[in-house]
Amino acid sequence: MDRIMQFWLVALLLVCNAAQAQAPAGELKTQKKVLLLMGTRFELVAVSEDEELANKAIEAGIQEIQRIEALISEWQPTSQTSAINRSAGGMPVPVDEELYELIRRSLRISELTGGAFDISWAAADKVWKFDGSMKEMPSPETVENSIRHIGYQKIQLIPETHSVFLKEEGMKIGFGAIGKGYAANRVRDLMRRMGIQSGVVNAAGDLITWGKQADGQPWYIGIADPADKEKVFSWLTADHTAVVTSGSYEKYAQINGKRYGHIIDPRTGYPVSGLKSVTIICPDAELADALATAVFVLGKEEGLYLVNQLKGVECLLVTDENEMVTSDQLHLHYYKNKPASAKAAIPAKTSKI
Ligand code: ADP
Ligand code: MG
Repeated sequence: MDRIMQFWLVALLLVCNAAQAQAPAGELKTQKKVLLLMGTRFELVAVSEDEELANKAIEAGIQEIQRIEALISEWQPTSQTSAINRSAGGMPVPVDEELYELIRRSLRISELTGGAFDISWAAADKVWKFDGSMKEMPSPETVENSIRHIGYQKIQLIPETHSVFLKEEGMKIGFGAIGKGYAANRVRDLMRRMGIQSGVVNAAGDLITWGKQADGQPWYIGIADPADKEKVFSWLTADHTAVVTSGSYEKYAQINGKRYGHIIDPRTGYPVSGLKSVTIICPDAELADALATAVFVLGKEEGLYLVNQLKGVECLLVTDENEMVTSDQLHLHYYKNKPASAKAAIPAKTSKI
């Protein structure tokens, strides 16, 4: 049975304990840096006794995100993804193992989601503009034309030469729905290898945590009260967990009074409606990122059905009618029912992310 509640929208807050910043020397300290990478506000948090190591790890994390962007971005003409796109319908392009594997995993998620998640959606990226510049609907012929070149089955991987081939001219791939999650996983791995025992990588609300806060408390991922975004309404304790949200309220086109969000149904070529936001909770940020997009396309019933089948994956959905729906095993802590032990962990001041 769905657990349903009325709300406007969900935004995620990362709740940090304000006291940790003043920890005395020799104890665990928290270092943090916020900056714009991959066109997104990234926040890197490292907890360590060694302040210098924490800062080094954060810098290494930033370089890692820049490296990944240069490799996979469909916007940068020098990336390997752009080389694949330029050769669509022509010839296979040999790529680094890393990109090859990312595409292989993307194809697996397409299969898992019946094509709802599809990196070849990008063939339609000229049809829709979600930056406010679009005032008219594209013609049905234009949309029809764009989906002709969408189809993950037409992405060919050639293991012998580590090459990728888009079988038709006009095809294009893009990692907008999985790249941030992939980068978050990689940065978490890198910082851990460098000896950072706990931290957070947060790409504008797509986040992954490991370990505990400096004061020993778990990381709390707060869910804002939709009526008052500054207020924590409920929270999750996150230990080695990714929490990733796709929403239709940030990037969208407003045409004739109707709002079209930036996630496209690859089967129709049109932006999907029905859900306002999808939050996926699971240990892997890349999978969470891709599934958030897929569940958006699948809609409430089919999306919930899929998530309930997947072990270790949970979700929280908000529909266009402001219903909040959760998967069977998701246990949110409601602020009004908070136990005494959790009370101390909720700071008066929350840092919005
Ligand atoms: P956000 O970028 O807000 O976190 P998502 O992770 O859901 O949201 O990614 C949305 C982006 O994914 C779009 O802006 C677009 O680049 C791309 N995209 C849109 N539709 C699809 C789809 N059906 N499958 C894969 N990628 C998609
Ligand atoms: Mg996504």
